[in-house]
Amino acid sequence: MIVQVPKISPLTKVLPDEPLLMMGAGPVPIPSSVSWANSIVINHLGETMATIVHQVKAMARYVFQTESKWVLGVAGPGSAAMEMAVANMIWPGEKVLSVCNGFFSERLAEMARRSGGEVVTYQAPEKHCADLDAVKQAIIEHQPKVLTIVQGETSHTVFNRFLPEIAAFAQDNNCQVIVDAVCTLSTMPLSMDDWGIDAVITGGQKGLSSIPGVSLIGFSENAWQRINSRPCQQTHWCLDATLAKNFWHDASYHYTAPVSGLLALHEALRLICDETLEARFARHLRCSHALQKGIEAMGLSLYASEASRLNSVIGICLPDDVKPGQICKHISEHYRVEISGSFGPNIVRIGQMGEQSREHHLFRALHAFGATMRDFGLPMDIPNGMAELEKHLQVKA
Ligand SMILES: *Cc1c(COP(=O)(O)O)cnc(C)c1O
Repeated sequence: MIVQVPKISPLTKVLPDEPLLMMGAGPVPIPSSVSWANSIVINHLGETMATIVHQVKAMARYVFQTESKWVLGVAGPGSAAMEMAVANMIWPGEKVLSVCNGFFSERLAEMARRSGGEVVTYQAPEKHCADLDAVKQAIIEHQPKVLTIVQGETSHTVFNRFLPEIAAFAQDNNCQVIVDAVCTLSTMPLSMDDWGIDAVITGGQKGLSSIPGVSLIGFSENAWQRINSRPCQQTHWCLDATLAKNFWHDASYHYTAPVSGLLALHEALRLICDETLEARFARHLRCSHALQKGIEAMGLSLYASEASRLNSVIGICLPDDVKPGQICKHISEHYRVEISGSFGPNIVRIGQMGEQSREHHLFRALHAFGATMRDFGLPMDIPNGMAELEKHLQVKA
């Protein structure tokens, strides 16, 4: 024997004694019924699975606000769903316009390049959403076949509030629109059909409050036609939408579906249907605003400009001599709360997605964050912040 039995700590020794409150940019806490569903294994084919798939598609259509038949799941992260949209709708030589506000919108542009697309990028100004006139101008100038955009740019905590207008203009100019709604779906309005969106992507571990690793994608009828008009072979096999159709629409085999994750997703979607989108949007808006007010009332400033600010992930500016990694480590070790650092700007980020937008989590997270900043010697008015949080939570929609 060359390889000996390794020395391994049991999970009980590796994991913290008390679960950490997950208040970063994902994964987010999951409801207990989602974690129950995630513990079950069933046959990946057959009648029970057919019912699950049927219901997941029906609920996803509600969450995407689409009547399109072409809803599919993906075994993989949000990025796999992004790649599925890009790799199926873009092929070598196709002109693509990528609207960029940060890390994830750049990832879409990079995927489009790797798919052989001729990609031009529009860079939104720092801390601001994409400018409507500038994007219209770029569409007229470059005549792209496909436009990629994020609804919420998690990395820079910016919200592209002109998405409906951009999608409508693109549609009028024969350009199909791919929208990454990984962090925003079910936290704020998105209407795939009304806005004329051709592909919507989401992951499990953010707005939907399910587990990471099982994602959803919706294609419009036009997008499906485009996919089927592909002039060259699809080089992806797992992400080939026409093969994924076997499982998602014809009850047959593509690859073994992540059965437990699909059950978890089913449960997360069912909870959204129970709550209704209207009530869920109102809850997210109220909780996120209250948290933002609380943070400001402690004496800190928010990163994104107010008009472009993303509600589902809040970016908070740090003084130059304090680094995001230090804050994240301290708040985790001392207060058992996880928040996120950043991809670039000197900010930390607190999530407001799904189960994160609950009042009891807000109080604990805000207190832990204020106390952490105080521990670093910054003057924090914690009582004022907590009072402001409470006051704004009282504003019922
Ligand atoms: C998190 C995120 C992704 C990537 O999701 P993964 O599951 O990490 O692949 C993509 N886009 C946005 C906007 C995100 O917030």
